[in-house]
Amino acid sequence: MSLLVALDGPAAARVTLGTHHRELLALHRDLLGTTLEAVVTCRHCGTDSEFPVPAEAVLDLPAPVPGNVVAVEVGGARETFRLPTVEDLDATRGLAYDDAVRRLAVRTHVGGAAPALDSGDIARLTAAWDEADPAGDVTVDVDCVGCGVPLAVSVDPAEFVARDLDRFLDRLVREVHALATAYGWTEDAILALPTSRRRRYLELVDTRAAARSLTAVSS
Ligand SMILES: [Zn+2]
Repeated sequence: MSLLVALDGPAAARVTLGTHHRELLALHRDLLGTTLEAVVTCRHCGTDSEFPVPAEAVLDLPAPVPGNVVAVEVGGARETFRLPTVEDLDATRGLAYDDAVRRLAVRTHVGGAAPALDSGDIARLTAAWDEADPAGDVTVDVDCVGCGVPLAVSVDPAEFVARDLDRFLDRLVREVHALATAYGWTEDAILALPTSRRRRYLELVDTRAAARSLTAVSS
């Protein structure tokens, strides 16, 4: 969550998890334009499998209507819960799954004290949340490359988007450094260049450096 809060301010923590996932995937698409690759470690053989996150399919999922709530039967009574936000999820960090859902239920229950939930209630409540905010749970079916076992992987887009943005920024800093060193341009001037022109200049810098090292070898 820290990534979008850093970019958009505290309001980014008050959106539902599905909206948060869609915003992250849109950011990745608009900024990098590449496929988002995730990785899972097989619990049977320990092999890592890389797989593409179906970002477009997640972006096409319906967004929850504002103020959307779900109603679930708990102990014979109809109880209402709003959809969990990023802030709610953050408050469950470190808890085991059932305890996390119970904490979410307390935070999101509408009207009066939240009821105690048994495992059946937990399953019904999470299913109702998933249905109302489908992008909140990004699950991808992957066959392990090591042992072939099918894995249903629940992907946290935040983890992989942050990784790619880190790499992107790292590369940008290196490019600015190379061009500033070669031409004496300012950072602003270099960042104002369209990516294609920046890459073209970098090729020329590389060619020049390669030619220099060849000369050094032959002399
Ligand atoms: Zn495996």
